[in-house]
Amino acid sequence: MSLRYRTRTDAGLFLHPVVYLKQEMRMRSSLIGKIEKAKRYAQEPERITFSGLTAVFRGDNDDHKLSYAGGKWHCTCHFFSQWETCSHTMALQQILGKMLPKEALVSPMEAQPPEK
Ligand SMILES: [Zn+2]
Repeated sequence: MSLRYRTRTDAGLFLHPVVYLKQEMRMRSSLIGKIEKAKRYAQEPERITFSGLTAVFRGDNDDHKLSYAGGKWHCTCHFFSQWETCSHTMALQQILGKMLPKEALVSPMEAQPPEK
C-alpha cells in the first residue's frame, strides 16, 4: 500500500484504499448533487426572503450605507433623512423584488393611511 492512499480517520485509524475511495466517491456524488440543487435554487429566487441586510451603494456622488432591519430601511444619504426613502433603497427594492418581505417593498409614502 502506498502512502498516498493511506488516510487517517478522525479516530486515528487508517482506512483500506478501497474503503477510502468508496467514501471519497460518495462524498463527491453528494457534493455534485448539492451543486446541481444550488443551480436549480438559483433559478427560483422566490424561495428566498431577506429578513435583514446591509449594503454599500455606490451612488453617483458618494458611497451610501444601506440597511434593512426590523422592518425598516435606512440609508445614510441626505435625501433619506428627509423622506425616509431614496433612490438607493428604491433601487434595492427593484433589484431584490420578491426576495424582500412585503413590508420592505412598501415606501413610507404608500404606507400612510389615505386622507379622507
Ligand atoms: Zn439613499
